[in-house]
Amino acid sequence: MRTLFLLPLLAGCAASAPPGPASAPAARTATPRILAVFAHPDDESVVSPALANAARRGARVRIVYATRGDASAPETTLAPGPAIAARRTEEAVCASRALGAADPILYDFGDGKLGEIVRPPAGTLGRLRDSLAATLADERPDIVITWGPDGGYGHPDHRLVTAVVTQVVAGADRRPLLLYAAMERGSLPDQPQIAAMGWAETAPDLLTVRSRFTAGDLAAAARAFECHASQYDAASRAALPALFGSSVWKDGVHFRPALDPAAGEDLFDLARPAR
Ligand SMILES: [Zn+2]
Repeated sequence: MRTLFLLPLLAGCAASAPPGPASAPAARTATPRILAVFAHPDDESVVSPALANAARRGARVRIVYATRGDASAPETTLAPGPAIAARRTEEAVCASRALGAADPILYDFGDGKLGEIVRPPAGTLGRLRDSLAATLADERPDIVITWGPDGGYGHPDHRLVTAVVTQVVAGADRRPLLLYAAMERGSLPDQPQIAAMGWAETAPDLLTVRSRFTAGDLAAAARAFECHASQYDAASRAALPALFGSSVWKDGVHFRPALDPAAGEDLFDLARPAR
């Protein structure tokens, strides 16, 4: 398996590269900029050691959340709505600071409502597209990280954020590298609670980007996860980062490059045996 590491990938690129043609991949900047785009505060936990590692090594890391997660705070007595939104906004800021990231950007789309049928049908996702395009123009990231099309464990908000992020990046004049978070097939911990979540797994040969991290980075990820006290009880907050560190993150945090580099003029010639 070809393995790339996030920072070396960026460090080898010229800071003064001229602008490329329309829709060209973005020329890497001297200080890497990484934008992680997710649906809810706590989603970043799926890649948090990689974010902590990049931030510690000097990258500008920022997380965007499409919603404030206002629908659910199972470890509190708060009612859905503004009270939960306020609590989870605080938790999102806490997590970003623990990871060494810039303060997060939170949009105000409704938690669980990205796929709601509205008129016109594309209304909500069109506004999300426009918000993301504006954020990409402001932040000018070299790398964008989001869920895979599986949404991790299939949450519709996750899947829809991925779809819109992919649309916006694919159409951008200055195109950052788009990476999907992914769990390597066979790496999930053998626990009933994890199995019950229905996490998607990805074939190892597709996971060509792997971000290694240190024990200190994992500790930062654990501190970030500790911020999400409205979502997980104390025992889960204490256990899950170490559990993932010894299973799905054992060899680093895995990513799948999203925009496949296959090229050709004949679909027939692109055919290849299934792997
Ligand atoms: Zn989520």
